[in-house]
Amino acid sequence: MHKLKKRSRHTVTHCNCRGQTKTTVYLQWPIQLQRTQKTAHDKLCPYATCEDAMTDLSVRFSTCVLALKRKVDIAIAITQIAGVSRVSHSLVHYRVVPESSPAFRLVQNVHDAVPQISDRRLAELYLRKGIQKAVPELQCMFQLQEASPYDRLPDGRSLLHVGLPRILCDLCAKINSTTAPN
Ligand SMILES: [Zn+2]
Repeated sequence: MHKLKKRSRHTVTHCNCRGQTKTTVYLQWPIQLQRTQKTAHDKLCPYATCEDAMTDLSVRFSTCVLALKRKVDIAIAITQIAGVSRVSHSLVHYRVVPESSPAFRLVQNVHDAVPQISDRRLAELYLRKGIQKAVPELQCMFQLQEASPYDRLPDGRSLLHVGLPRILCDLCAKINSTTAPN
């Protein structure tokens, strides 16, 4: 009984390895090619021998197809773990809209409405009031599918890039649960 207790205590012992991830980028543009190697244990850890490293080779290509008004992201990944290879792929496309589209114009208007004043606190107050007014309008556009948080300008910028990063981050997190990408 005593021996059994001792053995079971031994089998539940865990190591303190944190695991390592090493990413090598071979190419950044126009095609992104990178390799990621993950190991769960350090080389000297007794569990290292029974734990296989995972290698992930991924190719990603992103382009704007103006004729289709779409930005397209294509990704292919080959994952190798314990001698088994798995190929996964994804094709994500975003709508490309002009800067004059309602959502981008609304965000731009918030910035334009802030007067050119030297008092930074007053300028921030104007901006905050503009944001408070714009956020419900933006949320309404998303719900009516007149705009999407995933929309892109022809140069690839999203609403988050154009303005209000922090506020839109919060808003997108809320919208994400109810709206799927176009
Ligand atoms: Zn370990």
